[in-house]
Amino acid sequence: MKLIMPFKLFFALCLFSTIYSFGQLKIEDLKVNYGYRITQNRNVEVIIVHSTYNIQNDDKYNIDLVLKQFKLYKVSSHYIIDREGIVYRLVDEKNIAFHAGKSRLPDGRTGVNQLSIGIELINSHTDSPTELQIQTLLKLVTEIKNRYKIKYVLRHSDIAPTRKTDPWNMNWEDFITKTSIMK
Ligand SMILES: [Zn+2]
Repeated sequence: MKLIMPFKLFFALCLFSTIYSFGQLKIEDLKVNYGYRITQNRNVEVIIVHSTYNIQNDDKYNIDLVLKQFKLYKVSSHYIIDREGIVYRLVDEKNIAFHAGKSRLPDGRTGVNQLSIGIELINSHTDSPTELQIQTLLKLVTEIKNRYKIKYVLRHSDIAPTRKTDPWNMNWEDFITKTSIMK
């Protein structure tokens, strides 16, 4: 009995660490007080991926400066992923974040913010998302798809083609293929 207990504990710890590292994505809370509307019981059917960066100066990947821009324009996404692949929660999923703007889904519906979760990658027109960002995005999208009946995973440019070109410099087809395989 005395010998068995440490083994049980060891296996329980192994199991826990496996679930933690693969099943659950670590999300840092960085809630904003702008760019969203509190709501109850909305249907999440869509995930929209964006790119954003600080355009004010050379410090283009500084998340605080990116959020300062969001505040200025009264916009936000639910999540933002920095260059190291760390994901920050800006708005709770139950609330409507203002990230899509005037846009339309492939099935013709507008009012995309109401139906979607927005995810921003920090990268500019002249660079690609990092491998760490893509890995985190894959995990986050997979995890969201496991919790809602998601009809579409789309780029901002897919729903607002005349206004928007983001996410920039991302191999979208490869990403979508991977999201359809991952569980
Ligand atoms: Zn966008």
